[in-house]
Amino acid sequence: MPKSVLVIGGGIAGIQAALDLGDQGVEVYLIEKSPSIGGRMAQLDKTFPTLDCSSCILTPKMVSVARHPMVRLLTYSEVVEVKGKAGDFYVKVLKKPRYVDEDKCIGCGECASKCPSKVPDEFNLGMSNRRAIYFPFPQAVPLKATIDREHCFYFTKGICRVCERFCPTRAINFEQKPETLELNVASIIVATGYELMDPRIAPTYGYGKYPNVYTSLEFERLLSSTGPTGGEIMRRSDNKHPKSIAFIQCVCSRDVKVNPNCSAFCCMASVKHAILAKEHLPEVDCTIFYMDLRAFGKGYQEFYNRAVREFRVKFIRAKPAKIEEDPETKDLIITYEDTFTGVKKSIRVEMVVLAVGVKPVYPEALSLPIGEDGYILLKNPIIEPVAADIDGVYVVGVAAGAKDIPDSVIQASSAAVKASILAEGVVHE
Ligand SMILES: Cc1cc2nc3c(=O)[nH]c(=O)nc-3n(C[C@H](O)[C@H](O)[C@H](O)COP(=O)(O)OP(=O)(O)OC[C@H]3O[C@@H](n4cnc5c(N)ncnc54)[C@H](O)[C@@H]3O)c2cc1C
Ligand code: SF4
Ligand code: SF4
Repeated sequence: MPKSVLVIGGGIAGIQAALDLGDQGVEVYLIEKSPSIGGRMAQLDKTFPTLDCSSCILTPKMVSVARHPMVRLLTYSEVVEVKGKAGDFYVKVLKKPRYVDEDKCIGCGECASKCPSKVPDEFNLGMSNRRAIYFPFPQAVPLKATIDREHCFYFTKGICRVCERFCPTRAINFEQKPETLELNVASIIVATGYELMDPRIAPTYGYGKYPNVYTSLEFERLLSSTGPTGGEIMRRSDNKHPKSIAFIQCVCSRDVKVNPNCSAFCCMASVKHAILAKEHLPEVDCTIFYMDLRAFGKGYQEFYNRAVREFRVKFIRAKPAKIEEDPETKDLIITYEDTFTGVKKSIRVEMVVLAVGVKPVYPEALSLPIGEDGYILLKNPIIEPVAADIDGVYVVGVAAGAKDIPDSVIQASSAAVKASILAEGVVHE
């Protein structure tokens, strides 16, 4: 019988599951498709309701999991085949070439500073550039450079190799090939997280057309000192601080035509954004347009109360009908019907932030049954809320349904216990 557990996805849920399994003495393979673990939490500035710095609480966990003697971390890797059954799965993992020898790379960044190829930076959602050889973000784990083959001048034009010339440890290896690893594991935890819906499918809000309309994740990067503006909230159109910001809830969520699900964390994320905007720019006027405000978690109601009383954030119960742009000032005019009074109104703001809905990411190689809500089907959401509908497979975090970080962590710890029961050698008393 195999003794190991496979965890797919290195966001906060996958990291927590791997740490809990490792601490129980179970061998874990943690597979992450991107060059670093961290997931979406790494992109957040601060977290509600405590306003802890996100990377300050996440980075120690990332480092612990990477150093854990029971965890084998495989980044830039994907599961390509799964066979077998509970207690005895055979898994093929493809490790993509970084074109950098991970054992030799010391993370000095010399290569990236000399690389001439500039590419829109995914981590900052295209609001800044990175190089073709890069680290996804400064606290990346592992801190190993990766060459993005599609944008590297050597791979696309046959010239350059500047990074090779400047690397002090001779870590660049243009000949590196993909590697396939075969694993035998007792159980599998899926923690593949989510993507944001594309707000262009709600064209009345002008995202992608009006420069001063942002998504909530873009706003998160604007707030962050490692973001594209160094932590300054500035408008795309003129680099000026906005004097007023409107936050619009439930964009591409709770709408039967595009996505009927609630995104669970967006209400609190927007309350957090309005508070942080006020902390950055005390004079800014913040208004949140909401359908229902969901403040269900521990300390969340008090967080909302603080936003109203201490930070004077305004709340309007309405789903805006449309947003138009003043072509001269690039300000935005929001038309809405107040659902309490039924009166049609409009307001002018200098920036709009859309709380965009989410959709789950699935690990394709597993062919997991999907529920009517679009999330991975659970065996019994009431009494087995982390068991997928295949024996020996567990699903945690946002892949199982939209949820915040605390609930993702709770699910991960729960699945770690369930998954370890199938792994030989673990004694549960
Ligand atoms: C704007 C915004 C603000 C937020 N603010 C807060 C907040 O303040 N507090 C809070 O509690 N929550 C907040 N959240 C919610 C928070 O982001 C999620 O609860 C949390 O990130 C869920 O973690 P996860 O591990 O399930 O998913 P993710 O963070 O999405 O991680 C999934 C990981 O799996 C990897 N992956 C995907 N597919 C594969 C595959 N096939 N193979 C290998 N790896 C794969 C991904 O690359 C990623 O690293 C916010 C969300 C948004 C959008
Ligand atoms: S070879 Fe590619 S990655 Fe290296 S410096 Fe040139 S463009 Fe950048
Ligand atoms: S220069 Fe070499 S050692 Fe330094 S980060 Fe780049 S690949 Fe790694």
